[in-house]
Amino acid sequence: MIQKKVCMVGLFGVGKTCLVQQFVHSIFTAKYHSTVGVKIDRKLATVDGEDVTLMLWDLEGRDAHQDVSVSYLRGSHAILYVVDGTRRETFDQVFELRERARGAIGEVPSAVALNKADLQEQWILESKDERLLADQGWQAVRTSAKTGDGVEAVFEWIARATVQAGESTS
Ligand code: GDP
Ligand code: MG
Repeated sequence: MIQKKVCMVGLFGVGKTCLVQQFVHSIFTAKYHSTVGVKIDRKLATVDGEDVTLMLWDLEGRDAHQDVSVSYLRGSHAILYVVDGTRRETFDQVFELRERARGAIGEVPSAVALNKADLQEQWILESKDERLLADQGWQAVRTSAKTGDGVEAVFEWIARATVQAGESTS
């Protein structure tokens, strides 16, 4: 059985926990839970008929810097960065978070979830922002942890990327 560690990285409140809960349990709760520590959820994915267990690491807490600590990221096969499409600073910060993660563990497959896509009226990201991510080689997917839109898609991309990266290194 192949297991892949996937770390959720992004500023406080962007929807990391909600994306995992939507993907793993198909639930969304508007209630705010802020627990301390790392929560690991597992979900079985299938890539080209091969089973892959995704271990989704979700760090709780308020300290953005903690999110990219070496001990949290060590052994990751992929990182899912999460941006809140209604908050500009969460987009601006994602580049710095990636630099820090690279510094800690080097390059691993990564994607960006542009989350809260259901909040259309508050949405501030423009197509040039999405192009900037694409130019930097990032797979960006609009998601809503609330409606579930894009959630399967982004985790499927991650699962496939971890399997492909594993094939090229083994
Ligand atoms: P985290 O700190 O990154 O883990 O963020 P949470 O997953 O705890 O979510 C922070 C807040 O945003 C909560 O109040 C969620 O209900 C809300 N939220 C998360 N994802 C979405 C989404 O896709 N749409 C909407 N409307 N709210 C969301
Ligand atoms: Mg959380």
